[in-house]
Amino acid sequence: MKLFGSSGIRGIANEEVTPELALKVGQVLGKTKKSAVIGRDPRTAAPMIEHALIAGLSSAGCDVTRIGLVSTPTLACAARDYECGVMVTASHNPSEYVGIKLWNPDGMAFDSAQQEEIEEAIEKEAFGRAAWDEMGRVSKDEKAIRAHMELIKAEVGSASLRVVLDCGCGAGGTITPYLLQELGCEVITLNAQPDGHFPARNPEPNDANLSLLKKAVVEFEAELGLAQDGDADRLMAVDEKGSFVSGDELLAIFGRSECGESGGAVVVPVDTSMLVADSLPKSEILRTRVGDVYVAEGIKKHGAVYGGEPSGSWIFPRLSYCPDGIYAAAKLVEIVKDKKLSELRAELPKYATRRGAVPCANDRKATLMEEAGTRLKVLGEVLTIDGVRVETAEGWVLVRPSGTEAKVRITAEARDEAAVEKLYATAEKIVREALQ
Ligand code: MG
Repeated sequence: MKLFGSSGIRGIANEEVTPELALKVGQVLGKTKKSAVIGRDPRTAAPMIEHALIAGLSSAGCDVTRIGLVSTPTLACAARDYECGVMVTASHNPSEYVGIKLWNPDGMAFDSAQQEEIEEAIEKEAFGRAAWDEMGRVSKDEKAIRAHMELIKAEVGSASLRVVLDCGCGAGGTITPYLLQELGCEVITLNAQPDGHFPARNPEPNDANLSLLKKAVVEFEAELGLAQDGDADRLMAVDEKGSFVSGDELLAIFGRSECGESGGAVVVPVDTSMLVADSLPKSEILRTRVGDVYVAEGIKKHGAVYGGEPSGSWIFPRLSYCPDGIYAAAKLVEIVKDKKLSELRAELPKYATRRGAVPCANDRKATLMEEAGTRLKVLGEVLTIDGVRVETAEGWVLVRPSGTEAKVRITAEARDEAAVEKLYATAEKIVREALQ
């Protein structure tokens, strides 16, 4: 039985993710853990799922500490004082979704082996059930948000920028505006009231969803615009001209700040732009599968100084292995204090990207990828950790099966438009030939 995806358990509330399922997860988890801390994002179904998890954990003999409505990085930070952390969240998904994500004390999400253990135990109905006088106690801790803020404040300096912050009605509204104010910023908030209906915008902080933020930055003559997703582990930005900063650009800007002159290993997924490697000439760039959990695992395994994903997940391992959109906000304020964001962007190299797809039946994907992998070798060095990525003289191309649709996606990047069109066309031709 497959319950966990790359971001924990996630699905439509009360259909796919039910209180019955949450109870079982609690009963299984509570069998091996003596203490857990639990938090939730503002989703309408989150209190229901939280209560079911608490019942299961307590029934199995695990003490549970509730920290209420918090961001995912706040929960991951609190997990350091417990045997595990439990976050009820569906991250950037639309309002009808809810989910459960489990955390280790070092801020690392449960890995595939840990998740499989839980799936197996649920399938075997191997639930924990403590005697009446050994059930877990349930208590509250009101200090988790303050503790997370203090941890961040010890790492970043003060700044007196004018910032527009769009929390998107997510959990970031419980912490980020206050933190930035305490750092010395003048903060203009948009959608800072947590609301599980997400009335203002879709919780995913991408270019299309941030039109209000872009306008507000210009109107208020702010020096920076910031936006978070539903549980505030992701952060994206808008420069002082009201222009959306791409994830690859932010990845490079944070990377430059983290690595400085000394370099150090940086972990990125296979679909990251080459502008990141070119901006960090002294750093060793290590590539992983797409997904922030894989980036975090890569950072831990290689002792990297920093890693991130262009979707908006930035991981600073000196703080935690959990992507932290609140720390990232404070960090970006600190960076922009010294130089305008548009100027930092202008220092980065510019490349051309082309994205497309070729239709392919789901049951044909595995064999196509194998065949395409062999054929694509004529273009250059092949990497097969997630799809097939080929490094060529002009740039790179990535062929990956879509996880949700009957197609394989092709992404190409090169120095200019002409080169990228040529590279894309060549790769597409090879994939179509492999299909025949
Ligand atoms: Mg998220």
